[in-house]
Amino acid sequence: MRHLSDTDRDIIRIAQDPQFARWLEQITATGGCAHPIHLTGSTTTRDADTGEILHHYDSRNEPGERLLVRCRNRRATVCAPCSRLHAGDTFHLVRAGLLGGKNVPDDVREHPRLFVTLTAPSFGPVHRFTADGERCRPRRNAGRCEHGRSLSCPTAHDSADPLAGQPLCSDCYDYPAHVLWNAHVGRLWKAFTDNLYNHLAARMGRTRTGLRRTVRISYAKVAEYQKRAAVHVHVVVRLDGADGPAVPPPAWATAEVLTAVVRSAARAVHLRTPYNLALGEYELHWGGELDARPLRAFGGREGLADEAVAAYVAKYVTKGAADTAIGLDHPIAALDDFTTGRLSAHVRTLVQTCWRLGGLPELEPLRLRAWAHTLGYRGHILTKSRVYSTTYGALREERAEYRRDGSQPIDNAAVVTDSNWRYVGSGHTLGAAEFAAGVAEDIARSRDLAREVMANECEARV
Ligand SMILES: [Zn+2]
Ligand SMILES: [Zn+2]
Ligand SMILES: [Zn+2]
Repeated sequence: MRHLSDTDRDIIRIAQDPQFARWLEQITATGGCAHPIHLTGSTTTRDADTGEILHHYDSRNEPGERLLVRCRNRRATVCAPCSRLHAGDTFHLVRAGLLGGKNVPDDVREHPRLFVTLTAPSFGPVHRFTADGERCRPRRNAGRCEHGRSLSCPTAHDSADPLAGQPLCSDCYDYPAHVLWNAHVGRLWKAFTDNLYNHLAARMGRTRTGLRRTVRISYAKVAEYQKRAAVHVHVVVRLDGADGPAVPPPAWATAEVLTAVVRSAARAVHLRTPYNLALGEYELHWGGELDARPLRAFGGREGLADEAVAAYVAKYVTKGAADTAIGLDHPIAALDDFTTGRLSAHVRTLVQTCWRLGGLPELEPLRLRAWAHTLGYRGHILTKSRVYSTTYGALREERAEYRRDGSQPIDNAAVVTDSNWRYVGSGHTLGAAEFAAGVAEDIARSRDLAREVMANECEARV
């Protein structure tokens, strides 16, 4: 068997194990997780009154005397199966807020709902990519910048072109403004949501307090990087009655009114950086490209399909910075940590700018060095308002109740549960990794197909 690789030998060893079938069940239960956590211990459930044992589970009877559980990493580059599970949860969370389900009444489908995209302003011209072969900047007589670089570009870039998103002149490009913008997306977002109620109140001739007695605005938002590595946000916005999704909004609160208010609320955001910077003061605002579209009402023909929007949003949540134009996965410990990577010159300069600005005492609160790998952005990828829909925790709980060795959940009030678990390791051997990858592939193929089709339908239209 000299010709066998170490992996092949390990695969044979695993497959010949008498407990192989049970082991494969465990791998399947983790969804083919790439770095499962190994635990030993037991859980005992007793009747609270009689002390009778209702259920007992012990890892001693498992292969290798251990239980494997998911790593639950959200990054596709770290664990593809777990990131897909997370995307699935995001899909259900966003979907419930749009179509009902998971304790949200189905009637939310009749409430005004929008899909909104807020972008960054320009920090200097970049090479545009197009899907239809349209040329980048085919301007005649566009001239040259002060660094002697042409301000026109006759090429058609597709999204795989390494030039797409790169500045026409890196010396003209305003790198500090770009980094400071990414670092303030959270504040820009807060200013925008504050404006929403104020502008809606002004439009309807009411006070903000009076308005809050009749309507409530809920949202789920996902942050993403554009090709030029500026953050932009996609948002699902919904208008409810004062108490949330169970109550219809008043008749005057239409999708048209909400669209107008979203536009004016975004336009009105103007913040000044509160620092005394030698490099000048920066004004922070959203970019001019604002997209706000009503979602198709139940049975209607106009607008984006709500199912497709939920799939589209979920697709972005598993993309860490590493999967986008950026290529960085982990915080950077020192500036020479990253220079040798596969990063574009543009992203490298953004990281260097984060590092440089991060050294200025007046910018200390932005922690730009700690967040250099996200190019200054400190927020979560998905955030939602409190009453939008369900939570990740609730979705995990629901899944756990189905899962636990097929046993039915026992009524909590009448039982005591005794759990004792210990971490004993993580990851796979070479052969086990192959089995896990196979399991993950099977699951992915059968489950994600429909969702992918829906996301693409939406992507083609935004
Ligand atoms: Zn995992
Ligand atoms: Zn170009
Ligand atoms: Zn220039």
